[in-house]
Order: sequence, then C-alpha cells, then structure tokens
Amino acid sequence: MLTDKHGRKLQDLRISVTDRCNFRCRYCMPREKFGAEHAFMPRRAFLSFEEIEKVVVACKELGLEKVRITGGEPLLRPNLPELIKRLSVLDLDIALTTNGSLLRNHAKGLAEAGLNRVTVSLDAIDQDIHSKMTDSKTSVESILDGIDAAIEFGLTPVKVNCVVQKGINETQVKKLVEHFRGTEVIVRFIEYMDVGRTNGWMLGQVIPSADLLKHLQKDFNLIPINPIATSDVAKRWIHSDGTGEIGVISSVSAPFCGDCVRARLSANGHLHTCLFASGGHDLRAIIHNSEDIETLISAIKAIWSRRDDKYSELRSSENSALPRIEMSYIGG
Ligand code: SAM
Ligand code: SF4
Ligand code: SF4
Repeated sequence: MLTDKHGRKLQDLRISVTDRCNFRCRYCMPREKFGAEHAFMPRRAFLSFEEIEKVVVACKELGLEKVRITGGEPLLRPNLPELIKRLSVLDLDIALTTNGSLLRNHAKGLAEAGLNRVTVSLDAIDQDIHSKMTDSKTSVESILDGIDAAIEFGLTPVKVNCVVQKGINETQVKKLVEHFRGTEVIVRFIEYMDVGRTNGWMLGQVIPSADLLKHLQKDFNLIPINPIATSDVAKRWIHSDGTGEIGVISSVSAPFCGDCVRARLSANGHLHTCLFASGGHDLRAIIHNSEDIETLISAIKAIWSRRDDKYSELRSSENSALPRIEMSYIGG
C-alpha cells in the first residue's frame, strides 16, 4: 500500500474542474484581486474529462477511495455530468462542492450521472450578510432551493459548509443550526484559513471551534459523537433530542495533517499534495503523452512517496511567508 513520508495513504482526490467562479467571496476570490485584469487559466489548458478520468484510474490503482469535484465553481464547467458518468463506474465515493447558486438546475442530471452527494457552501441565512461575504447577487433562497433539489434527487447526506469570520458572520452560526435542525442536512463550521495570498487573512479573524461550540451549547444541547473514519476532518456533534448533526472543522486551532490523505488536482493538470503547497507537480506531459497508464501511476507514486507536507501543524511566521496557491486554483 502506497504511503507518504508520514505513513499517510492517498485516499481522497479533490479535482478542480475550473478556476472560474460566479461569486467573489471575500475570503477566497476578493474582487479587487480577481477582477477583469486577473489572468484565469486559458480554457484550452483544462484537462479534458478523459484526461481527468485517466488520473483517477491511476490513483485508484494506488488506493484511492473518494473523489470530490470542486473549483472555482464546478457547476460552471459545461457538461459536468459527462465527467461524473465516466467516474461513476470506478466504484468510488463521488462528491461535489458547490456554492449552490446553480444547483437547482443541475441536481437531477448530476444524480442521474452517478454523483453520490453534495456539499453546499452557505455562510449566512441573512441575505445582506451573504451578499457581502460572497460579493454576489445570488439569493439565499435560491441556494436553499438548490439544497432542496439535492435532497429531492438523493444527493445525500447534504452537507452545508459555513466559513466563520469574526465580526462578519458569527451571528449566522445559531441561525444556520436552527434552520437545518430536523432536516438531515449537516451544517459544518469551518475556521477561516490562511489559504492563498489574496484574502488578507489575520489570525484575529478566526473563531476557534472550541469557542464556537461553547457559544452554541448555550442554545442547544449538543453531544459529541465518533468520527466515521480517522481521516474525517470534521468533529461531529448531535442534538441530544435526535434532531440532527452539526460539525466543526478546526483547520487552524487543531490541525489534522497527521491524518491528511488528500491530494488535489488543478483544472490544468497539476497535482498538489497540500492545500498550502507553493507549487504543484505538472502531470500534463505524462497525461497527454503516455499511452499506457503505468507511467502515470509511477509518476503519482513517486510524488506521493516523497510527500512531507504538514503545513497547518507547522504554521508559523516562517512558513506563512512562503508563496502559496489560491484555493480557487487548486480547489477547496
Ligand atoms: N465554489 C465552490 C464552493 O464555494 O463551494 C467550491 C470551491 S470552494 C474553494 C470550496 C470550499 O472552500 C468552500 O466551502 C469555501 O467556503 C472554502 N473556502 C474558501 N476559502 C476559504 C478560506 N479562506 N478558509 C476556509 N474555507 C475556505
Ligand atoms: Fe467561488 Fe467557492 Fe471561492 Fe466562493 S469559495 S469565491 S464560491 S470558489
Ligand atoms: Fe493536509 Fe496540508 Fe491541510 Fe495539513 S495543511 S491537513 S497536509 S492539506
């Protein structure tokens, strides 16, 4: 079984299918940095679905169990169900992360193609806060409708991701828990992370999950439950009366590098072994040229066995000054 330098397997591949997005979330793609001047990847540089499939098949040979389609906004990539169809025969768990704005229109097609489940990012129930955070005009109502569509077509369990920023949306935490209580939708609160170089991250804007939970316990009676797998990034809590589950992801205050089994593939074919990596491994030449899959398998195997990343556990002034890839480029 393939492992990296810290004994971690390659079990989870996040595939970015585009670096474009119809939102400009302040914490991910601030408009002043991702405006008309920004050089997005040329679309002709995107891996084709056949090429993405090739990478997934190679990773599967090395122990891959899960695939997550992401971006940018993955639902902006035309004909996405075609990719899902190709991957669905490989006996993997296939999930997708989306901002939800286009989900109502796509849920049926994605489900029919074989997608297993979706995670929808939703940082606020209040429209003004949502509009401010995402710098978009999309209505919260349409995202909630997208979530309903996902449930309708069996893309379950639906998870909702909320990035919590101090002074911006902490008032929304209780509202989100209340809104989804009793619905089987699992809301997860993520600590604001220092990904990329454009969001002006400061530690003071992070609300540690422990503080958030203390706050929530005043209104709800939450009980911790065991993770399903050790590689699960969220700590799980349930309402004591059986009305549902929530999660917290403590990427900053309690990092989980020791169990990190995730690789990321950018839309243009670079493999990244850490969210905070300063660079990726360009697989394009091998993907394009190798007739047999074995060359690609050997290349990925060599990259993974040299993997030494533990950024979040080592987060310090020295490594935080290093160059970093944007989240919208390699996928969240
Ligand atoms: N556009 C899709 C979406 O928003 O769901 C998929 C891509 S987005 C980069 C994936 C996830 O990364 C989202 O849930 C988003 O909230 C999260 N994210 C982006 N920037 C982040 C940051 N600085 N800290 C924590 N999470 C972040
Ligand atoms: Fe777009 Fe997702 Fe980034 Fe928001 S978090 S800007 S929706 S890619
Ligand atoms: Fe994985 Fe890198 Fe995040 Fe650590 S910092 S959990 S190695 S992606």
